[in-house]
Amino acid sequence: MTKPVLAIHGGAGAISLAETTPEIRHKYESALQQILESAGAILAADGSALDAVTEAVRLLEECPLFNAGYGAVFTSEGKHELDASIMDGSSLKSGAVANVTVLRNPVLAARAVMDNSAHVLFVGEGAEAFAREQGLECVAPTFFSTPERREQLERVQRSGSKQMALDHDAQAMSFAPLDETRKLGTVGAVALDSHGNLAAATSTGGMTNKQPGRVGDSPLIGAGCYANNHTCAVSTTGTGEAFIRTVAAYDVSAQMEYGGKSLADAADQVVYEKLPKIGGSGGMIAVDAQGNLVMPFNTQGMYRGYIQIGQAPFVAIHA
Ligand code: ASP
Repeated sequence: MTKPVLAIHGGAGAISLAETTPEIRHKYESALQQILESAGAILAADGSALDAVTEAVRLLEECPLFNAGYGAVFTSEGKHELDASIMDGSSLKSGAVANVTVLRNPVLAARAVMDNSAHVLFVGEGAEAFAREQGLECVAPTFFSTPERREQLERVQRSGSKQMALDHDAQAMSFAPLDETRKLGTVGAVALDSHGNLAAATSTGGMTNKQPGRVGDSPLIGAGCYANNHTCAVSTTGTGEAFIRTVAAYDVSAQMEYGGKSLADAADQVVYEKLPKIGGSGGMIAVDAQGNLVMPFNTQGMYRGYIQIGQAPFVAIHA
């Protein structure tokens, strides 16, 4: 029997320590704690890592503080395009959706693609039609909008920037600590269950002011999400293009498999060396088959936490 563990993240970015008031800290930390406790209960009841990461990411999508599902960031055209992925380390089965606009919980659609289709990735209207057939909930495209995210888009656009901004970075542009323009706001979860199985899931609204049709790393297996019982489970957050170019999540697994590296050494190498070399900022959460857990990030902060079954959850924002 392995000791089950669940870890989650709510994005990384320029989260100013000085300006994180106790109220803001409390808001984020208690959201993370509650989600860890709810989804951790699945592992405590000998449930699967796959079910635990699905539920953790679904809850993160439902929470407007994080950039996934409800509360997702806006594209340059003031719309939302959501991406999600999931992977089962025991079978290497995986599912993903990209560029969906009306699915309330993109992670449930990714799970349905994995469980009930012969494919791995569906995009746009085809993904939505598939999810509808699967009986998943659809909402109006405006369902995901929050005033905070709209203000974040307006702030980025007012600054004259044609560039897209990581969610938490966009927040920082207004000098508010958790200001919604300066975060990299993807969410994700990784877990090891009592049967020794690993799983990972990732979901995002992408980057503020992104061009319509742009897809980041989050729905790409190997870039934003990867799980393999022989090595580790990984979920990433950050400037997606750099994570795609470094095949970041898979690289951690490959360094363990081919290079015999520990999880910590492999993850540090990707986050502190490979990504910065090409301008990649962000971080990742990862757990290996022995239950070792790492959460490295090369930004000011990363919303993150973990729960080891039977113990109180740990949550943190800064280093
Ligand atoms: N990785 C995500 C993307 O590029 C953004 C993020 O993590 O904040 O779409």
